[in-house]
Amino acid sequence: MSVRIEVLSGLGDKAPAAILVEAEGRRLLLDAGGALHPGQSMAWSDGLDVDAVLISHDHIDHIGGVSALPAELPLYCTAEVAMSLPRGREWRALPARGQCRIRGIPVTTGQAGHSLGGIWMHLGVDGGVFYSGDACLESLLFPFDDPPPARVALLDASYGLYDTPQVQCRETIAQRLTEPRVLPVPVSGRALEMALWLDEQTEWLGVTWNLDDACRESLEALLTLPRSLRRGGHDAAIRRLLDASRADSPMLWLVEDRDDDPEDWPEHRLLHTGYLTPRRQRQRTAGEVDWQRWNVHLRLAHMRTMVNRLRAARATPLFTAEVRDVSESLKRPRSLALSEEGSDAVG
Ligand SMILES: [Zn+2]
Repeated sequence: MSVRIEVLSGLGDKAPAAILVEAEGRRLLLDAGGALHPGQSMAWSDGLDVDAVLISHDHIDHIGGVSALPAELPLYCTAEVAMSLPRGREWRALPARGQCRIRGIPVTTGQAGHSLGGIWMHLGVDGGVFYSGDACLESLLFPFDDPPPARVALLDASYGLYDTPQVQCRETIAQRLTEPRVLPVPVSGRALEMALWLDEQTEWLGVTWNLDDACRESLEALLTLPRSLRRGGHDAAIRRLLDASRADSPMLWLVEDRDDDPEDWPEHRLLHTGYLTPRRQRQRTAGEVDWQRWNVHLRLAHMRTMVNRLRAARATPLFTAEVRDVSESLKRPRSLALSEEGSDAVG
């Protein structure tokens, strides 16, 4: 059974995700990404002809293009992700982890370790097609489920060749927490795990912190969701964190990312930990804001881990300008990956 894969958007740049997979005469669209910043092209949706769309998670570069699709096009996502759809958009359930058939094509899903309710997808065609969506193997809070083998791996390579372990990122951020800071974060993603981490760090450092209503509501919502959507052992800490009384004017703020400018926070300095839009890059270059990454995507060693686990014959790095370098690196003999994995490398 032949399969045709066309990355409509997301190959060669950190661009909106839109991948067409055609198999058994059916055409599925994996993700319907919107622009991450003004001026980013949305041409992928022009003249689109597909049978259904599957959404991996609720970040704008994966879901923001839904409004450009015909309202009658069948859309599949998890219940958590559905909360971020345009009002009134009809949708059908994808399992948070499990199996289903969409237009006759077997689809397996699992938790991707990146965001609340965010999944990877595996299509049971032609030896398997795996699409990671955005994925991370280092989350303190979100589990990553092992996918079934796949001949083709479409991998989140948002970080390109970057390979710094999360523990080092956290250490660097911790060093910056003793002066007034605002940390803007996506509420369904790193906000939740950063809240847990900040609670520990600030107690240790003896500094005050607070979280805005959006982050608080997201943590409260997390406790109402099935336990299988989060790693074990955090519920008591989340409850403690939510019940604690907090300073109105704390040293540190964890806030929903609303594209704030330095002028919005005259008493604090912005510390970004995620993707920097061109505008933010300019602000960083001008010394107006700080940035230190908190890993929420696959770093290079973990892309190798994925290729090995999937036993993939072909890997396509997505969402990066470093396609060639990453591809070459994933093809090289993987002594590191072998010692990490203890399993056979696949060419
Ligand atoms: Zn994402």
